[in-house]
Amino acid sequence: MTDSTKPTFVGKLAPRASFWTNNKGTLIGGGILVALMLVIPFTASSSMMNIVVFAMIFALPAIGLNLLMGLAGQVSLGQAAFFAIGAYTHAIMLTKLDLPGPVAAAIGVAAAMLVALLVGLPLMRLRGHYLALATLGLGFIVMIAVREWDVTGRTTGIYGIPRPTVFGIPIDNSGFFLWFITPFVVIGLVLALNLTRSRAGRALSAVNDSELAAESLGVNTYALRLKVFVLSAGFAALGGVFYAYQVAIVSPTTAEFHLSVSILLMVVIGGLGSVWGAVAGAFLVQFLGEGMREVIPAIFPGATGEVQLLGYGIVLILVILLLPGGLYQATITLWRKLPFARNRRAADAHATAAEDDTTIPQLPAVSTPVAAGEPILVISGLTKRYGGVVAVNDVSLTVPAGTILGLIGPNGAGKTTCFNMISGALTPTAGTVTFLGQVISGKKPHVAASHGLTRTFQNLQVFTSTDVVGNVYMGRYRKGRAGVLRGMLGLQAHEQGAHRAASYEILKSMRLTDAADDSASALPFGKQRMMEVCRALAAEPALLLLDEPMAGLSGHERDVMAELLRRLRTAGLTIVLVEHDVAQVMSLADHVAVLDDGVLIAHGDPETVRNDPAVVVAYLGTDLDEAEAELNELEEHA
Ligand code: ATP
Repeated sequence: MTDSTKPTFVGKLAPRASFWTNNKGTLIGGGILVALMLVIPFTASSSMMNIVVFAMIFALPAIGLNLLMGLAGQVSLGQAAFFAIGAYTHAIMLTKLDLPGPVAAAIGVAAAMLVALLVGLPLMRLRGHYLALATLGLGFIVMIAVREWDVTGRTTGIYGIPRPTVFGIPIDNSGFFLWFITPFVVIGLVLALNLTRSRAGRALSAVNDSELAAESLGVNTYALRLKVFVLSAGFAALGGVFYAYQVAIVSPTTAEFHLSVSILLMVVIGGLGSVWGAVAGAFLVQFLGEGMREVIPAIFPGATGEVQLLGYGIVLILVILLLPGGLYQATITLWRKLPFARNRRAADAHATAAEDDTTIPQLPAVSTPVAAGEPILVISGLTKRYGGVVAVNDVSLTVPAGTILGLIGPNGAGKTTCFNMISGALTPTAGTVTFLGQVISGKKPHVAASHGLTRTFQNLQVFTSTDVVGNVYMGRYRKGRAGVLRGMLGLQAHEQGAHRAASYEILKSMRLTDAADDSASALPFGKQRMMEVCRALAAEPALLLLDEPMAGLSGHERDVMAELLRRLRTAGLTIVLVEHDVAQVMSLADHVAVLDDGVLIAHGDPETVRNDPAVVVAYLGTDLDEAEAELNELEEHA
């Protein structure tokens, strides 16, 4: 994904507040939308009504695509396929089976969601732009299928779709239709907005920031992406259902590629990651299409057919170049520049800091499922080969619960590869990793996380689309239960509030509360590293893998970190620590394991390892003077 299509800032983790405060924007925005839709039929011309009705119809697939692209970061070029499946299935159910409207509509939506599930099952395992290519292919398959199939009426399509009736009133004019569709668009909008703020929504955007980090915190990224793909298809199909009602004909134009492009344009113009942006984008594209149909033939006399597509292409390029965050981002930037908004942000920051100062810092909770000294992690014959390179060679180790194991070795010794195999980020070529009696090697990182193993990363994996407390909140993912459905229905405010409070408490243990509401991407490197440790601790792990936690930290920050690790060990947490600061490792660890060239050359208490000649020579090189100096330094530190 290029930067220009990277979703916009998903947002701050909203404080626990009243229903009104948390939902003010949705309620005001929804109220204005409903009021407009009530009034428009009395004031608008018939061409304007046409634009508004189609904008409301296409707002539904645009909201769905926005969830997929803006939240999950998956580009789809086949939204028209699901739109068409919804429209055609609905039309067939009504005209050929005489089913009642709501049943036919439900079958139309379900059919599209089923196709999305079947297509998504293999596709969601792929990375990069494969989904875009595959959905493009799906769009063509659906387009050709409806043209060639008798049931779908081939090129003529399906005619005579009956108008819906509500309490016996036929919805037979545009005004009634607008009132008919508005509640569905508003409900769809509220469900989508709720989802973006929910545990599942925040997890989706975390996956988009760093799939590895999200997985390591227990997010089943595959299942979550699949769910949002199916959901997105459902939104598209509902749009198709309303389209069939409004036009009373379903023809192959509903499945054409340019429809997918215009839905994509709605999302990009509105702003990726903004549900309101998708609705605004739907209106803009309808107006734009209407304008282009008049302007383009004036510039290019004789231009006929879908001439507005030329304008769509130009606008798409201009938006990506000039307004990569779309209208939503432009509005937010403008709003933040207003003196009123600036003052309020400053006041909010002050209020948060003042509240934090009054509370006593506590140690994050620790999970201790086995008695101290019992084996918690058993590594047996662990090996990783990359062609001729043996990064880790037949390493066997046992880590007793409630201890700190320091894993050291020179650059390229295989420490990170070892970590990656333990946490599930890499599949071993040979050997097993057993954690709490369960073999976890070769399984995805979220499996290890679900057993209570969490890690940090040598190359930081920050969730840049949210703030610092939002990052730590993601560490609580495993502790929460609300899924996509509960998130959409907004039934998790209590759970979210509790986890937000817990996240603040954990930030206190690292003296990071002042930065809690800052954007995570703006944090200095050292603080980002400390934030990652807080995020890992938020999961209340039984085993914590720390990959170079001291790198980039100031002297004071190192002391805070070392003190925290000691206290955590005392509380019963097991820690495996990869660190280049050998002196720190020797002073912190109960046991030290030394890797050299992928081979475990020493394992024992710090004193034994420090004096092991194999370690001195292999770890420090063959330069004996250097070895002497380093040994002396270690002696002094001890
Ligand atoms: P450092 O302290 O510098 O981070 P390390 O001890 O963590 O080093 P690893 O990153 O695990 O070492 O690398 C171990 C060896 O495996 C190195 O020789 C490295 O070049 C090699 N290696 C790691 N990943 C790959 C890969 N994807 N393909 C080929 N070789 C790799």
